[in-house]
Amino acid sequence: MPAVMPRDVLVLPRIPRPDRATTRFRAVEGVIDAPTTIEGEGFQVRRPFPNRDFRGADPFLLLDHWGAVEYAPGEARGAPWHPHRGFETVTYVMDGALRHRDSLGGGGVISDGSTQWMTAGAGILHDELPTEEIVMKGGTFHAVQLWVNLPRKLKWTPPRYQDVSPGKLELLASHDGGAWLRLIAGDLGGFKGPGVTWTPIAYAHATLTPGARLELGWRQDFSALAYVLSGRGTAGESDRPIREGQLAVFGSGDALSVAASAQQDIKTPNLEVLLLGGLPIGEPTVFYGPFVMNTHDEIVQAIADYRAGKMGVIPATTIGN
Ligand code: MN
Repeated sequence: MPAVMPRDVLVLPRIPRPDRATTRFRAVEGVIDAPTTIEGEGFQVRRPFPNRDFRGADPFLLLDHWGAVEYAPGEARGAPWHPHRGFETVTYVMDGALRHRDSLGGGGVISDGSTQWMTAGAGILHDELPTEEIVMKGGTFHAVQLWVNLPRKLKWTPPRYQDVSPGKLELLASHDGGAWLRLIAGDLGGFKGPGVTWTPIAYAHATLTPGARLELGWRQDFSALAYVLSGRGTAGESDRPIREGQLAVFGSGDALSVAASAQQDIKTPNLEVLLLGGLPIGEPTVFYGPFVMNTHDEIVQAIADYRAGKMGVIPATTIGN
């Protein structure tokens, strides 16, 4: 279950329902099953993109869905020290806690509804591991990590962090209160999320109670995706079925709709869905592991810079920990 729940949906600001006379709802162009892959020290994630069937919707490069998983003691694994250059990682932890440290001496814990926005920019080294408590004792873990590309002129921007605590999320209700939405970044329905993005995006986590329908205006110049974290329902006006681990890719238009099936499983009583889209950057992209640049030469340079310690080094105090 997602950590951030409104105390009373009825008092939340309402997202205006798009006017059907003047709005063109986006059709669903495809539904993709997220393949599973192994990351870091050996944890399983679902990766709706990039994969064989879907490269990603510009400006997004990658989405990893980690859990929900119930770790036994000693079972939790993370991603030890590794570099990034050329984009931003957005980590949203719904359940459990992830500890991170970086080559600039920063670090902290992302937990229970928090989002960490890391602009890798010119380069940074970091690690991302479940907290010692979860490793030792086990526990529930559920998180997603989104990679947002940076345009050529911002790939060399200095690294920076933003911590979006659960209290900063903009909580909104659908027109009839059957669904609510946590706005992490961007503008939706005239409301503004707390995350500050170099590349304009909209990113939200919606919860739809059984039978509820969520309709919302969506910028015409943005890409549009819906990824199902749990539960089942439909996407678009033609009610294309979607379920946990599936990604719906929307076509053009200026509004979106998703709906929750009336029947849900006992363990996942609602439809939990990520809604995301952004302004396409439209530049050539060369993707090599943790580096995303515009040309092959820039990748060769990134590897050389990493080896030469130019993206930073592992802080001495953390070695062996
Ligand atoms: Mn990373």
